[in-house]
Formats: sequence, C-alpha cells, structure tokens
Amino acid sequence: LTTRSTESQVITWLAGQHDTMVELLRRMVTIDSGTYDKVGVDKVGDVVRQFLSAHDIQVDILPQRLYGDCLRASVPAKDADPGNVLLMGHCDTVFPKGEAARRPFLIRDSHAYGPGVMDMKAGLVMNCFVLAAFARFGGAPAPIVALFTGDEEIGSPEGRPVLEAEARRARIVLNSEPARVTGNVVTGRKGGIFMTMRITGKAAHSGVHFRDGISAISELARKIAAIDALTDLDREITLNVGLVKGGQSVNTMAPSAEGQIDLRYVTPADRDEMMAKIAAIIERSFIPGTSATLTVNGEFLPMVPTEASNKLFELYAAAASATGFQTKGEFAGSCADSGFAARFAPTLCAVGPEGLNGHTPEEFLRIDTMVPRAQACARLILGLGGSGL
Ligand SMILES: [Zn+2]
Repeated sequence: LTTRSTESQVITWLAGQHDTMVELLRRMVTIDSGTYDKVGVDKVGDVVRQFLSAHDIQVDILPQRLYGDCLRASVPAKDADPGNVLLMGHCDTVFPKGEAARRPFLIRDSHAYGPGVMDMKAGLVMNCFVLAAFARFGGAPAPIVALFTGDEEIGSPEGRPVLEAEARRARIVLNSEPARVTGNVVTGRKGGIFMTMRITGKAAHSGVHFRDGISAISELARKIAAIDALTDLDREITLNVGLVKGGQSVNTMAPSAEGQIDLRYVTPADRDEMMAKIAAIIERSFIPGTSATLTVNGEFLPMVPTEASNKLFELYAAAASATGFQTKGEFAGSCADSGFAARFAPTLCAVGPEGLNGHTPEEFLRIDTMVPRAQACARLILGLGGSGL
C-alpha cells in the first residue's frame, strides 16, 4: 500500500462513520458525569473502553482515588519515528446528577444538545474514531496514545501527573476540547490560579468596646481594593475576588474574613510578578493588628505559543483546508489541560468538533463537524512524517 492509498482509506472510512459517531455520543451524553461523581465518570470511561476494545485497541485503566479513572489507549505504528502523538480529552462535566434525565440528548436543526455534548464528549468520540481508523488501516508515522481523564473541570488534581508523564514522551499533543463556532482552534491560553486569603482580626462588641476590636472585614476590603488595582488589561492580567465571607454578627467587630481570588495571566514571568505582588498585599496590615494567610487551591498553567506549536498549527490549518474547512488560531482567556502538556511538547487545543455555550443549558454541538474534525486530525497525523515535528 502506498501512503496515499492509506490516507484515502482512513479518510473514506471516517466519512462513513457519522451515524456511529452520533450513536456513541448519545451513549456518553446520556450518562451523568459531573467531576465529583466518580461512578458516573467511570461509566463514561467504560463506554470508551468498550468501543476501543471492539476495535482491537489496547486500553489500560489507571485507577484514581477520588475522581474518575484515567484510560490510556494506544495504537502502535511500525517503523515509527520516536515520540508519540498524544490525544487528550476529559470525561467529566460541570453538570449535577440528574441533568441528563432533565435535558436528554437531542438533535434539532443539525445541533446536538445535552450535558457535556460539546465540552467535551464529542471530542472523546472524535478521539475514539481517529484511534479506530489508524488501528484499522495503519499509516501513522508514530504511535498514537490517547488519554481519557476524569477531573479537568476542577483543574485536574489527579489527572495532571498522568498527563504530564505522557506529554514528556510526546512528539505533539492535540487536545480535543471543542473548536469555536467560527471554526477557530486555540493556540494560546492564559494561566490561572485560584487562591483564598484568610484574615484574622479581633472580636469586640461594636457598641460597647469598639476601641478594643479589630475588624477583619475592614482589612479584607482594603486588601480587595489593593488586589483589584493589580489588574492590567493591556497585559491581559486580571484579578477577580469572586467570593467573600466573614464576620460573626452585625454588632461584632469581625474576628475573621476571607476572600477567594482568581488570577489570570499570560506568561510564567507574569505569574511570578503577580504572585509576589499579591504576597506583599497579604503580608501588609492596612489595619494594625490584623494578620493574613494565602492558600493556593488550584492552578492551571498557561499555554504559551512556541515556534514548534506555531508549526503544528500551520500543519493543522493545511489539514483542515484539505478537508474542506478554514481555521485560525486564537488566544483564550480560559484554562485547560493543554497548559500542562504545552510545557513538554508542541500542543494545539480545541481541535474537537465545533460548539458553543459550554457549561450552560444552551450548550450545543454542530453535529456535522464531527466527521471533518476527525478527518483533519487524521490528515495532520498522516502528514507528520518529514514535517520536522
Ligand atoms: Zn472541557
């Protein structure tokens, strides 16, 4: 077989899989799989495992303690160059138990609806079919490994080490989060850190002993103003104190108060600079007698474009064009697992089927993009040999 005929076999086979893709998607969307519902996330993993096993693809289950188990599927390549092609996707959603029954999988006017339909069960389906196509016809210039993880929506506390270990061995990484409805994929992402500041003051009756009290709430207010002042929109650096609580009663000087901070930034240097500035605000007592601590609750790393990742995008854009659609690379303020992978290998994010309104009941998938997005990924992989990546 020539490479050309392998390519046409892979692309032609994928072209005929629309209905089976929709059926697999329906099975996945029908299962509730909120991040904290380990049983549900594992059920989605089991649907993935059954599909891949039926296509003679090796699947290993990497058990996790709190969240959904990770699945690692691999399709070997003979005479392959070193370095795996890594496909990534997460099985968890942001939706509570019962959502799939309240809002069952539905297709109307070539849009598919249901919890997690675009973020990112359609991407999981796409990865399954790309693996199946190469398992069937061969032709990949490198082994293809796919990870199906279970806790991305909360920052991948358990999935992160699994992803990083695999990304270290990867030649390129494709994350199948949904493409934008404009057709665009994501070539850069912000980093993000969620933190809690906790402030201690001193309780006192605010009518009788006002001079003896120290208000943690007043200190929190001053710290929030100082933190807000760090936002620098020209540099795409933002700080948001999105949750606050504190105090004991209206007539007590507040003995304690806390605020949760969401920092978004672009480069690792921005991170260091902003964390130092936040630390200085936490250390400083605007109101004498207060003290404060800072705890980091979760962190996503930024996806910083490199020469190699730009080249990967160019290859993808060419593959898209050969498939019949146009795409551009865009920068996203939201965070994803791709930030963890991008430190180790050229990474492209949001190469999954197109959709909009993730994390809301209005979430939808453009169902007719499932086949072409799978074909573009397959073309990209087929064209890797000799690309220099
Ligand atoms: Zn997602």
